[in-house]
Amino acid sequence: MVTQPRDASRPLWVRAASLRIRTRALVTASVGAVYLILFLVVGPEYRLALRPLNVLVVVAGGFFFGFRGGLGLSALTVVVNLVLYWRFGILARTGGDLFGNLLSVVIGLAVGAGTGWMRDLSLRLRHEVARRQDAERQKEELTALLVHDLKNPLTAISGHAQLLTSTDLDCEVDRRESALFIGLAAERLNRMVMNLLDVRRAEDGVLAPRYQSVEVGRLLDEVHRAMRPLLNERGQQLEMVQRSERGRIEADPDLVRRILLNLVENAVKYTPPRQTVRVELAEIDGHIDLTVSDQGPGIPPGYEERIFDKYTRLERDAATAADSSRGLGLHFCKLAAMAHGGRIWVEHNQPRGSVFRVRLPRAPH
Ligand code: ADP
Repeated sequence: MVTQPRDASRPLWVRAASLRIRTRALVTASVGAVYLILFLVVGPEYRLALRPLNVLVVVAGGFFFGFRGGLGLSALTVVVNLVLYWRFGILARTGGDLFGNLLSVVIGLAVGAGTGWMRDLSLRLRHEVARRQDAERQKEELTALLVHDLKNPLTAISGHAQLLTSTDLDCEVDRRESALFIGLAAERLNRMVMNLLDVRRAEDGVLAPRYQSVEVGRLLDEVHRAMRPLLNERGQQLEMVQRSERGRIEADPDLVRRILLNLVENAVKYTPPRQTVRVELAEIDGHIDLTVSDQGPGIPPGYEERIFDKYTRLERDAATAADSSRGLGLHFCKLAAMAHGGRIWVEHNQPRGSVFRVRLPRAPH
């Protein structure tokens, strides 16, 4: 899903919403004013006949402004009636006894609050239905896109596998290259499927990290090895920095490795050829900090938080080579960091690019 910067749509929404609220408030207040004026002008024998107007104000309050609006307006009409009684000695229920007046107050409050409650309930139901329909639509779209995306690595795998078995391919260098391409495509396939499964698991609340003592150097080596074919293809370097006294961290090695793979793959993808991507793993003040810095186009202002939402990708990528992005990788990173009790955020790199930072607590929380 290609999303628009929030600021572009917000003012229109805010203006439309406040205009609607103003109109409703005006309608309710006008009915209330008409009721009040008529009430004061007409004689006592007609006041009871004005009761429907009073009810209308209360119902409009609930209908337009929900439970609290309905209750508030009902309470306001009670206060107005009390003031009228205090100033002019007239009660709304002319001729009614105290019990009758109390009853009408209670009924008024119940009508206002009840209308509001029903309105709130129906709004909640409508939102829920719309949310489910939206989720269903997104799921169908994503499945279609994923099936489409799976085709590329699969085609690469079968093409290079055919090459490897062909008698024409005698050169050892070509064989190695084909094997590397197959590895790269298989790794990409694996990551796509794992991201999808883990996002699902996290949404079901079952993405629990399996803590182990992890050797930092080994973890970084694994990431380097997995990324080597892509780095070679783009003529890029991966600079790995390790700052950990013990050389070990307590974390889920699989989740941390996949966080790093997702971040590094993005960094490599968006950094121009022959440039360097930097990865740092440090243990500072009881935290584990993973940092991936690139020299790509960076994340535009307004997207720094939303980029971690599910299915969010930048509009500028829709027409480029990064078109295969489905906006799941960073969402997975966020869920995996949160599962460790940590967080992820992005900063601007100097002079260009982004720095993605993941901070995890050192010990299991
Ligand atoms: P996917 O897993 O489908 O590749 P991600 O969630 O990893 O998607 O990324 C979502 C979007 O975030 C990308 O489409 C891209 O627009 C943007 N993005 C991610 N990483 C970077 C980066 N290092 N530099 C610039 N843009 C990035």
